[in-house]
Amino acid sequence: MRQFDVAILGARGVGKSALTDRFVTVRDSFVDKYDPTIGEQYHPSMVVNGERDLFKFFFTTGVEQFTAFTEVYIKSCHGFVLVFSLTQEGSLKEVESLRKQIFRIKGSENVPIVVVGTKSDLVSEREVPTTTIETLASQWNLPFYETSAKRNWYIDDIFEDLLRQMRVRYLSD
Ligand code: GDP
Repeated sequence: MRQFDVAILGARGVGKSALTDRFVTVRDSFVDKYDPTIGEQYHPSMVVNGERDLFKFFFTTGVEQFTAFTEVYIKSCHGFVLVFSLTQEGSLKEVESLRKQIFRIKGSENVPIVVVGTKSDLVSEREVPTTTIETLASQWNLPFYETSAKRNWYIDDIFEDLLRQMRVRYLSD
């Protein structure tokens, strides 16, 4: 089975763990060889077009948390999920700088990315309007998803989109 390394990036508290937990629990997952320092790591798999691939996730919060180590694994990751909360405008600004950092570190703008606005169930707390998202999506030419980990809205779509992008980027020659 092929494995794609995917970085899940976004400000603290936007819902990165909730999102990936939701995805991992409904997938067939595979456990790495047991490592006493990190414990068991579950890698979810997904079937698209009849082929199953594995995801390995890495997590990082905002750009100000970047270390030399972060840069090393960003350079090696195949795909990126940039997460912000629809209830927190500042977290979208963070995504803006994360996107720039990724392009800088990868030395290319040809990078599989999906942008995810979480907590769409919290309608009355929403701070980021759909018009802002539509404008950014066309400026950046990147797919945006509005999701709720709480309600399980559009979670699979994110990872399917990213998987398709990664296959195009890395497997077609
Ligand atoms: P992380 O720091 O980005 O990993 O954020 P967490 O996944 O720990 O989530 C932070 C908080 O937001 C937790 O209290 C979650 O229960 C809550 N949360 C995450 N996703 C959602 C969502 O889709 N809807 C709602 N209502 N709350 C969410």
